[in-house]
This record gives sequence, C-alpha cells and structure tokens, in this order.
Amino acid sequence: MVYEHYDFARNPIVEDQAFSLESKCIRCGFRILARAIEELIEEEKKHRTACVLKPRQIIPA
Ligand SMILES: [Zn+2]
Repeated sequence: MVYEHYDFARNPIVEDQAFSLESKCIRCGFRILARAIEELIEEEKKHRTACVLKPRQIIPA
C-alpha cells in the first residue's frame, strides 16, 4: 500500500543557503520541518496517527 500525500502540502525552503523541507497538514495546519525527505516522511507518518482531525476513511498501510 502506497502512502497518499494529498493530506500534506510540501514545500522546499531555502534559507541562508540551507535547504529544508516544510510539510503542512492540510487538515489541522500542523507544520513539520525536516532536512531530509526521509525525515519528513517519518514525521508525516507520526502526525497521521496523532492528528486530531482524522480523515473520514483511513486505509492502514
Ligand atoms: Zn493534522
């Protein structure tokens, strides 16, 4: 089962020549900042289980 990413809005951020990734939960607005995509995916996974505004249908991966 492939993770769907429609529930997070991802944005690359370049600040002082440092690259980071921002991901924002489109349901509750929770912001995640990470330096690597793997880290971002992990944090998104964690937030999916912690998000107070769950989607109507959750398909466990
Ligand atoms: Zn959320």
